[in-house]
Amino acid sequence: MQRISHWVGNRVVPGTSGRTGKVFNPATGEQQAEVDLASTAEVDAVVASAKAAFVQWRATNMSRRAEVMFRMRELLDANRKELASILTLEHGKVASDALGEIARGVENVEFACGVPALLKGGYSEQASTGVDVYSIRQPLGVVAGITPFNFPAMVPMWMFANAIMCGNAFVLKPSEKDPSASMFIADLLRQAGLPDGVFSVVHGDKEAVDRILVHPDIAAVSFVGSTPIAKYVYETGTRNGKRVQALGGAKNHMLVLPDADLDMAADAAVSAAYGSAGERCMAVSVVLAVESVADRLVGKIAERIPNIKVGPGSDPSSEMGPLISREHRDKVAGYVSGAAAEGATVVVDGTPRAAGEGYFLDPSLIDRVKPGMRCYDDEIFGPVLSVMRVSGYEEGLRTINDNQFGNGTAIFTRDGGVARQFQFDVNVGMVGVNVPIPVPVSYYSFGGWKASLFGDQHMYGPEGVTFYTRTKVVTSRWPDPRTSSVDLGFPQNR
Ligand code: NAD
Repeated sequence: MQRISHWVGNRVVPGTSGRTGKVFNPATGEQQAEVDLASTAEVDAVVASAKAAFVQWRATNMSRRAEVMFRMRELLDANRKELASILTLEHGKVASDALGEIARGVENVEFACGVPALLKGGYSEQASTGVDVYSIRQPLGVVAGITPFNFPAMVPMWMFANAIMCGNAFVLKPSEKDPSASMFIADLLRQAGLPDGVFSVVHGDKEAVDRILVHPDIAAVSFVGSTPIAKYVYETGTRNGKRVQALGGAKNHMLVLPDADLDMAADAAVSAAYGSAGERCMAVSVVLAVESVADRLVGKIAERIPNIKVGPGSDPSSEMGPLISREHRDKVAGYVSGAAAEGATVVVDGTPRAAGEGYFLDPSLIDRVKPGMRCYDDEIFGPVLSVMRVSGYEEGLRTINDNQFGNGTAIFTRDGGVARQFQFDVNVGMVGVNVPIPVPVSYYSFGGWKASLFGDQHMYGPEGVTFYTRTKVVTSRWPDPRTSSVDLGFPQNR
């Protein structure tokens, strides 16, 4: 059985806790590896190695840091296919989706190559006579990232690229369900010339996370995962004096107005709901259809579903792979089976597929969904699209704003004025206009509102650089004996 161990000091370090987790191939249901789960003492050892590495790394000049990141970009580019096959094997996503994840992740590495431009401070000459004032940005120290199963390559890239370029040492605690991508990335960073200890991987579960959240030498924590854990990580980390950004779950609504191109809206809804088997935090999970076009829209979505080819990610013709685990597949299927009893209409039932050894589920479509039903109130995180019928723009907007989550949303319309009003009115962090999955490009930042984000800074892009640095302001005067005197008054300029 393959064993996946920690990455410390630029090499693989076997775990000593005696605890391991099982890693499955979701397409077959077979266990394919064992991952070491770190103890508190092992987390401490990783942090000690990162802390030692930080001293040299923060003193390494920015051109040298950028050189490493440029090389990392080239290595990622050259190894896209191999990394994608690792994602398919452990996560289950199909090859095209895995390559898409890597491409969006690499954008963050590319952005990070230019981080020196964002580390510039301000300079005020002659703030007082002979006195200059300037600000500088400095790294925080050891920073940690805790990541979810659904983007095992991209989400770590959201974090470590900026963190490292800002001069920090980065400790990654990836999802224990698909831990191999982080090891592959770690080895590429070594090949890129990153010094020992600047990037570490510690595998683990709650025990490792809990140690990270209280460790006195960890200055900041970036988290991406479900809302209850995001809230817990934010509250525990900040209580222990850490800077924390914790991104949580989602329920993304797509509002379709009667003037929209319904074929385009149906294509978009199907792609955004069932891509990656719905296991995306930016997946569309609810279509808000204005009543006058709802029957036609539901018909168009339903007629597209049988064309989706569900199968193993290793088969190039598959468009949708399995879910991450048997328990998750069964939980998702439960939302579909329970929907009719709650008064919704199951238009397409994908649950019969749930019987096999692989964790497959076919796409499901549920119509006439309402708030208060479990399939609406919960984040399902699977290939299930709900349709809620609304009277018009106002009811659609109110539904989105009343929802506890605020990660992504989209409006489909040909009316520019209404689209502009929507972007003004809606309480959601990332908004699409005729774009169903509005994941911001790397030079903006990623983050939701409400229960989708705990903390003040969004992830990656300029806000990522702000998160991973702190500013210092220097007030300086070069000695001029002619202006020197004793003055006990408060320093002032006039
Ligand atoms: P998860 O919350 O179960 O796990 C995320 C991380 O937290 C993992 O590293 C896991 O080991 C750790 N963890 C799990 N339980 C813990 C506990 N009790 N105490 C401490 N740590 C714990 O999430 P997941 O199932 O891996 O990922 C899916 C979730 O992530 C979905 O809710 C999805 O919406 C969300 N997500 C959000 C975004 C975003 O940007 N907002 C992006 C991707 C995924």
